[in-house]
Amino acid sequence: MNQPVPKVGIVSLGCSKALVDSERILTRLRAEGYDISGSYDGADVVIVNTCGFLDSARAESLEAIGEALAENGKVIVTGCMGGDEAAIRAVHPSVLAVSGPHQYQAVVEAVHAAIPPLHDPKMALVPPEGLHLTPSHYAYLKISEGCNNSCSFCIIPEIRGPLASRPIADVLGEAERLALAGVKELLVISQDTSAYGLDLGYAEGGWHGRQVKTNLTGLADALGDLGIWVRLHYVYPYPHVDEVIPLMAAGKILPYLDIPFQHASPNVLKAMRRPANQDKVLNRIRSWREVCPELAIRSTFIVGFPGETEEDFDNLMGWLEEAQLDRVGCFKYENVKGAPANALADHVDEDEKEERHQRFMEAARQIADERGATKVGTRIEVIIDEVDEEGAIGRSKADSPEVDGAVFINGETDLVPGDVVVVEVEAAEDYDLWGEVVAKVEPKRPTFRR
Ligand code: SF4
Repeated sequence: MNQPVPKVGIVSLGCSKALVDSERILTRLRAEGYDISGSYDGADVVIVNTCGFLDSARAESLEAIGEALAENGKVIVTGCMGGDEAAIRAVHPSVLAVSGPHQYQAVVEAVHAAIPPLHDPKMALVPPEGLHLTPSHYAYLKISEGCNNSCSFCIIPEIRGPLASRPIADVLGEAERLALAGVKELLVISQDTSAYGLDLGYAEGGWHGRQVKTNLTGLADALGDLGIWVRLHYVYPYPHVDEVIPLMAAGKILPYLDIPFQHASPNVLKAMRRPANQDKVLNRIRSWREVCPELAIRSTFIVGFPGETEEDFDNLMGWLEEAQLDRVGCFKYENVKGAPANALADHVDEDEKEERHQRFMEAARQIADERGATKVGTRIEVIIDEVDEEGAIGRSKADSPEVDGAVFINGETDLVPGDVVVVEVEAAEDYDLWGEVVAKVEPKRPTFRR
């Protein structure tokens, strides 16, 4: 009699880095013959990959564990909040196992204990590029774990450890497998992408007969040979970032930089323990835009940080006006369990935080609206994400999935996700654009140098 195929469900919370951890766990389990279930009742065991960053994320993680326990009963917890097993067991004592971030082996062992694998693992069930939870036309490419910085509001270095870069040949090999499997856009992620390779002494690795340095420029240049969209996230404005801007201007990688500035006031940046020279950063942004006028800059900020005065906030608003960022996210400061910032004096009142958040987001929206209006009448390349009976929805080169704007193409129902088209922009509002397809862009071939 055939043994029933064991089934695993997963709930993946938190950031894109946690999503990559979930993908790695699923890839391992699928290689061992497990099936993946999309529902609680169809699964023999459920993995909850938690986020432990903000207090609100911890509450959401505990809620998700409770829901999985109520719906399924067999629950394995992993991820950032897993580093605090006592807090999880205090609320949910019946979880089967708890492990911290990127402890893939511990999760797989806990799954084995809960529901043993088949005797004959079906390796062929796993595609060579691994399993992905994102739509198949884009994928996250995680280049390192951990972080060497010590921002006072953050406990990532404590839970994920210092910077640990993946060797360049591993990263490029994964990127190439993804491109061969049909991925059209790679989103490069880490905690600090500009620091890539520092811990490996920027060692060289072989790829297609050439030596590539394990650093941001080497990585961006080599990924640019794949012939697909490549987008850089979590880049810090260090001087060597200047080197990737000409690659953007030449069309090798997308003219897009996600730089988490967090604030602009020197006092607040100092309290955050982050580099505090935003005037230099403004000059750098100006020079980048001279080299690559198409460059879109996305950033995130924290308002209401302990000690932030009205003057500090005005400083931030003035800086935002000068920097003219294309895409902006903003968080109201929250304590993070174990972070040094919790002990700082002069925490900002919640109403004040809310008021500053609204003022900031309104200013950012106006900037985006004005920058969007300059695109009306121009032609831009758009990658398609979704198609339904009303038309297609895609993104421009200035828009990363999940976090940025969209391009709406009404009536265009013959496209498929991953198609790249040229759109004439007819209207713009806030972060979104509307337009009409004028041409289809043929996929590019890889241009490996030998
Ligand atoms: S750069 Fe700062 S905020 Fe980002 S992970 Fe490192 S310590 Fe945390």
